[in-house]
Amino acid sequence: MNTFVELYNEENRDSAVMARAGEILKNGGLVAFPTETVYGLGGDALNPEASAKIYAAKGRPSDNPLIVHIADMEALKVLVSEVPEKARLLADCFWPGPLTMIMPKSEAVPYATTGGLDTVAVRMPSHPIAYELIRSSGIYIAAPSANTSGRPSPTTAQHVYEDLNGRIDMIIDSGKVDIGLESSIVDLTGDVPTILRPGYITKEMMEKVIGPVTIDRALLADREDPNLRPKAPGMKYKHYAPKGELIIVEGQRQAVADAVNELTEKNEAAGLKTAVIASEETLSLYRAACKVSIGSREHEESIAANLYDVLRQMDEMGAERIYSESFAGGSLGAAIMNRLLKAAGHHVLRLETQKDNV
Ligand code: AMP
Ligand code: MG
Repeated sequence: MNTFVELYNEENRDSAVMARAGEILKNGGLVAFPTETVYGLGGDALNPEASAKIYAAKGRPSDNPLIVHIADMEALKVLVSEVPEKARLLADCFWPGPLTMIMPKSEAVPYATTGGLDTVAVRMPSHPIAYELIRSSGIYIAAPSANTSGRPSPTTAQHVYEDLNGRIDMIIDSGKVDIGLESSIVDLTGDVPTILRPGYITKEMMEKVIGPVTIDRALLADREDPNLRPKAPGMKYKHYAPKGELIIVEGQRQAVADAVNELTEKNEAAGLKTAVIASEETLSLYRAACKVSIGSREHEESIAANLYDVLRQMDEMGAERIYSESFAGGSLGAAIMNRLLKAAGHHVLRLETQKDNV
């Protein structure tokens, strides 16, 4: 299959591109498109064959449900059998935006899209191009992240191309996305709303609007526990992992740098290609030949936005052993560390902690 890559953004708005993307989607084909979180791989959510194609293109296990993207509240009447009051309140505050809500599905939504579940995940993205695509195609777009299953999610069209060229019909290239981490997911089908995946919209932000919110226990465990099954099927899979072994090193910033420098020296002497992921503020403390700044601790948004690209760079460098600082602070800390811990298979080296931790 030939994958067409089309530049389309605020400055380059060729209406033929949108028309073609809409035609592809209506005919059951696949189009990758930008959202404010990461690039999505879109297909017609109400067409089971399109959903099957999404799973095949990504190599994604078919019990891992897709998120359905909508452009207005009317869509809920078609997709959801009953909209919980708390979902309306959250939608008022955070839609369009990086929040996915799990609700009971209607009969219109095929099990092929929900991975066999009676619930459906719905999001109204705020990215103008995503909005335009949903609107102009006139369909509800099922879209997981547009990466090969297991790889870091794509934050640029180039990442999508690397993973899916030849496997999908079209990629809409609108440059680098804004947030860089997937949406927060909250399940509204139980008594107390439960966060299934942390993201830009935090627990505290939701609680201000709807009162108490819990976090899926499986997310809080400090290791992958086979007895705790995450409620979002996708969260149980190994994710985002670079090919090299990734280890998170936690502790006081100089102690972390000293320990990593010592380990780097040992690895390099043994012929292991070693890389370091650090913040802009601490990068100069490391002696490794391969070291990458993930962003500034002063602007945690920059760390979130660069995380997946940095993990992909590790593979490009051929890094065999990777040490990363920890980025647990701030309001995005939970979302960033959820991804980084998964990428590291929960491999954390904890040094004695004092003040000034990194
Ligand atoms: P992605 O599309 O790559 O961002 O992944 C979507 C995430 O949403 C996966 O972790 C899914 O398991 C989760 N998800 C989608 N639909 C549901 C649902 N009905 N119930 C629970 N989790 C869901
Ligand atoms: Mg994904």
